[in-house]
Amino acid sequence: MSPLQKISRMLFGTTPKMRRVLAYWAATAMLYSFCCLIVWRELGMGAASPELARVVASVGMVGVAAFYVLLRAAPQLGIANWKLALYQAQFAIVFDLALYAVLDNLRGSILIGMPVVIVFCAFSLRPRQTFWLAVFAIAALAATTAALAYFDPRHHSVYQESVHFALTTVGIVSVTAITGELSRLRAQLVDAIGTIRTLATTDELTLLANRRHMNELLDLEQQRRAARPNDVCVALIDVDFFKSINDRFGHAGGDAVLQSFAREAGASLRTTDTLARWGGEEFLLLMPDTLLDEALAVIARMARRVDALRFPAIDPDLRLTFSAGVAASRPSERFDAAIQRADEAMYRAKANGRNCVLAA
Ligand code: GH3
Ligand code: MG
Ligand code: MG
Repeated sequence: MSPLQKISRMLFGTTPKMRRVLAYWAATAMLYSFCCLIVWRELGMGAASPELARVVASVGMVGVAAFYVLLRAAPQLGIANWKLALYQAQFAIVFDLALYAVLDNLRGSILIGMPVVIVFCAFSLRPRQTFWLAVFAIAALAATTAALAYFDPRHHSVYQESVHFALTTVGIVSVTAITGELSRLRAQLVDAIGTIRTLATTDELTLLANRRHMNELLDLEQQRRAARPNDVCVALIDVDFFKSINDRFGHAGGDAVLQSFAREAGASLRTTDTLARWGGEEFLLLMPDTLLDEALAVIARMARRVDALRFPAIDPDLRLTFSAGVAASRPSERFDAAIQRADEAMYRAKANGRNCVLAA
């Protein structure tokens, strides 16, 4: 890693999330700097009260630096992102109003910062939190404009302050309404993505992983294995005489039997194992970090559970068995080849009279 990359990782973190948060921070830092430039220029022209303007600009720059430290250290400090966003927004509102109070000519344009603060929080805060932030902004604006008109009527006419208050409030309210709508749309999108992910990875009938998802998991395991060699076993499991179940109890009866099988088989697994519906009444079991003997024990446990399955709603005398082939994947072997060997072992188990498990 080059020294430049090291510095960049130190300053902006390594995770995409931290980099995004700090990119937002950089954008706000530029805004603060721009405001401080305005203050500096206005001071030069005698258009701002000198002591107060210097204090406000300094507090702004110290604040923005402090927020960098807080954001960068947030994961270690355990501070939630939304909390920091809220603190930053409140600080920015107070800073904006302080600038409004100390500037002369340009103070009206400074108020554009108020709705901008709300926009910055659009994706970090919930609609309710954004609403209360807007209430805080409007209340602070009302207090500032009223205080200026009351204590310094020579520079701040009631008319001027009222117009500033009214227009800025309209801006804040409009932005808050749009932000709320955006948050709702975003929540719907997150829901929809969750649903699509479930649909794309789950078998509809058995609720096990589907073949596509199992292929993804096999790819991931293959990558993990390339980085750190481990023992992996795969097993192909096929329900015995399933066609006759369909013939006797109809397709719906067959479906119900498959669902019960999937539930019992799934319940006999360890948390690291994944069972997927590989097709029809055939299932693929992936067992990472597992030796062949351990894999055989997992499938023996599964066989006991399936053997104990009863189907009172279909036929109390119905018994279900399966045949399985298990393969311990060789270190240099791709999983496709191990699955092929497990398949061959499963067919030998069928030829052997079914209801048995053979190692490849
Ligand atoms: P074997 O012991 O040799 O595996 O015999 P089998 O009858 O289980 O195997 P075969 O391959 O002859 O038949 C499998 C049947 O599974 C045929 C197919 O109609 C049925 N099947 C596949 N998918 C489904 C499903 O989703 N629901 C139902 N009800 N049946 C299915
Ligand atoms: Mg079968
Ligand atoms: Mg089959």
